[in-house]
Amino acid sequence: MTDSPRTRETRPAASASAPQGRPAQGKIRSTKPAQVRPATEGWTQQKDAEGRPLLQFASPKRGKPPVHLADLTPAERTEKVKELGLPGFRAKQLSTHYFRHYTSDPAEMTDLPAETREQLVAGLLPPLLTEVRRLETDRGDTIKFLWRLHDGALVESVLMRYPGRITLCVSSQAGCGMNCPFCATGQAGLTRNMSTAEIVEQIVRANRLIADGGLGGKKADDHSMERVSNIVFMGMGEPLANYKRVMDAVRSMVAPQPDGLGMSARGITVSTVGLVPAIKKLADEGIPVTFALSLHAPDDHLRDELIPVNSRWKVDEALDAAYDYYAKTGRRVSIEYALIKDMNDHGWRADLLAEKLNQRGRGWVHVNPIPLNPTPGSIWTSSEKDVTDEFVRRLNDAGIPTTLRDTRGKEIDGACGQLVATTEDEAASAAMA
Ligand code: SF4
Repeated sequence: MTDSPRTRETRPAASASAPQGRPAQGKIRSTKPAQVRPATEGWTQQKDAEGRPLLQFASPKRGKPPVHLADLTPAERTEKVKELGLPGFRAKQLSTHYFRHYTSDPAEMTDLPAETREQLVAGLLPPLLTEVRRLETDRGDTIKFLWRLHDGALVESVLMRYPGRITLCVSSQAGCGMNCPFCATGQAGLTRNMSTAEIVEQIVRANRLIADGGLGGKKADDHSMERVSNIVFMGMGEPLANYKRVMDAVRSMVAPQPDGLGMSARGITVSTVGLVPAIKKLADEGIPVTFALSLHAPDDHLRDELIPVNSRWKVDEALDAAYDYYAKTGRRVSIEYALIKDMNDHGWRADLLAEKLNQRGRGWVHVNPIPLNPTPGSIWTSSEKDVTDEFVRRLNDAGIPTTLRDTRGKEIDGACGQLVATTEDEAASAAMA
């Protein structure tokens, strides 16, 4: 029997770049010396024609989804309604049905003349998402939706009830071109960018389900009207690779009703693996969304393998851009860190991360480690509890507020890095087509 790479002693060459004064690694991890790397686990980085890690920034050309009310500005909606030969104020009425009552059903639009409803809906509210599957946890307070888009592409969103808030994890692309080795979505490649309305429709459909009492976990004596309060762009896709449509969707989310969903920008988290020019652009938008950088490693030596986009923008560049986001917006930045056993969970990496964050200032950042959710067939597993606790402790001790993130949705493959259509999903979609 050959040695497993995980049990072999493979001390990281990365320690050469460790900051001075850090204890020797052997003292920290005397019982867990392994340094697992994607390459030693059998991962082969695909390369582009120039020999650089393969990344897909441009969306493959596919038939565009039909234009929808949520793709248009309020002025464009009015124009479109006039083009249909109807008075412009009907656009506002239609927006009210969509953004306040979460409906695209003409039968429910009783304030509109019967003869114009079908025409308005056909012209401005074409169907965008067909529900293929819905998976719920036992209590029904976490629901994963599998949607089929007009061209057959599959995407997912996950709805989660927490005390005092309801969060929807949305997809921004079908697939993803960032090719992160530990991520199921990344392994499937990029199918295409989602349209603005396809992104918004995920929220409208979730709100409709909540309004109909479909999300579990509500207390029997709670009769409040509920809807999605928080959005995290942590479903399928790299949001900043689909920048314009994602930002137009955010504008629709924060626009007051009935022009949009009237959500608070602070409840919207836009995440990225580190597309630095787009982070800079986001900081200049003047929309105070929460910004999250999915870092996953504080050293380029490992991050080059773990997050292939690191070949374009290094750890320090991404952290500088994240700090600038804080400096410009005053919004505290989140650093996401998936803890992968023996890969990136070493105590010295927690120290290095704290050092790099503290070098840039105090009070600007919060770290959210999350034990990796192993994907089906994955060769990587989540860090053990004692290692996770030690990682969190070191960051907190260094003055970096750090909170271990909940792995809600794990049992239905609805956690970060797990949103990918399975062969069963494909079969269910094909059966409906
Ligand atoms: S981790 Fe995020 S950026 Fe990386 S491949 Fe997965 S979805 Fe894309």
